[in-house]
Amino acid sequence: MCQKNMTSTRVLSVPSAKTPFEQTTIQRRELRPHDILIDIKFSGICHSDIHSAFDEWGGGIFPMVPGHEIAGVVAAVGTEVTKFAVGDRVGVGCFVDSCGECEYCLSGEEQFCTKGVISTYNSLDYDGNPTYGGYSQKIVVTERFVVRIPDGLGMDVASPLLCAGITTYSPLKHWNAGPGKKVAIVGMGGLGHVAIQFAHAMGAEVTVLSRSMNKKSEALSFGADDYFATSDPATFTELAGRFDLILNTVSANLNVDAYLSMLRVDGTLVNVGAPPEPDNYQVFSLIMGRRSIAGSLVGGIRETQEMLDFAAQQGIAPKIEVIRADQVDEAYERVLRSDVRYRFVIDISTL
Ligand code: NAP
Ligand code: ZN
Repeated sequence: MCQKNMTSTRVLSVPSAKTPFEQTTIQRRELRPHDILIDIKFSGICHSDIHSAFDEWGGGIFPMVPGHEIAGVVAAVGTEVTKFAVGDRVGVGCFVDSCGECEYCLSGEEQFCTKGVISTYNSLDYDGNPTYGGYSQKIVVTERFVVRIPDGLGMDVASPLLCAGITTYSPLKHWNAGPGKKVAIVGMGGLGHVAIQFAHAMGAEVTVLSRSMNKKSEALSFGADDYFATSDPATFTELAGRFDLILNTVSANLNVDAYLSMLRVDGTLVNVGAPPEPDNYQVFSLIMGRRSIAGSLVGGIRETQEMLDFAAQQGIAPKIEVIRADQVDEAYERVLRSDVRYRFVIDISTL
């Protein structure tokens, strides 16, 4: 690779697990024919960034530049790029490459690529180089993994949709959230508050299950029909056998049996929250109601574009708090205390 055509970029990087962020400079690769250079404007902070930067899932690659909720503007394109031009408003989510040939890539579900999807950060690309994410002024991504931000969506609110949006939209669609369906959203954080909006827009009857009553009025403003506190044991008896679908967005382990008891016969508990420790449950909680436990990973690129277009059309937007680059350590602490309403977004011009 020709050194002189690489692009220097300022980044926020953690040298090792649980260390504070440092502002430093890295090189982005020279543009390949299908690559796009993006000037990043906003980058959301997902709880997965914290699990990764704290190495809670293991296998962390350090130094690490997290960030997979990226909104920016195309600054340059490779010689064979056809889908995008300089100046376009674009987004990048959790993935930056896949084989493009396996059955899952061909069906638009790149996240399940059999060769192994390449994550936006904390991953090794197919050349063996570490990937560095969106807490950065610039990124180079192959055009297949770049989506268009619709005109109706601000760049700042669009950024969290690139992970929190697609991670909740995809399972809600897959498990047919819609008219006549009773859907519960567990946990009202970054993912949860967007999930409420999508499930409501899809026509489902939406109940929020949060630890306390503190977020009730905002949950209703996002489109929830009902709201219960899971700290109150009466919630579980009152809602027994109620839901067709429970979407669990919680970053910690729950009492799975208690949540399964709120499913109807044939109901499904879908986990998108990804706590580091294993879950436990009684098989009888499934058997007695022909219930299922499932999981879902982000979503494919085609569906990510569909989700952004749907959000713009429906007026769906994350509620965000924009922060400076030097506030990210503090933001992580606040997310861990659930002191976020409801997504931190880094203004990259402050980096
Ligand atoms: P977040 O903003 O921190 O929200 C998580 C919410 O879970 C909190 O707001 C809180 O809601 C609830 N919660 C937190 N700790 C809890 C505890 N100890 N017990 C019960 N409830 C608790 O996080 P996020 O960014 O939405 O991410 C949520 C999870 O999804 C993370 O584990 C993340 O890694 C994972 N994730 C998975 C995927 C995927 O593809 N599957 C993609 C993105 C993120 P209340 O205050 O309302 O109770
Ligand atoms: Zn994420």
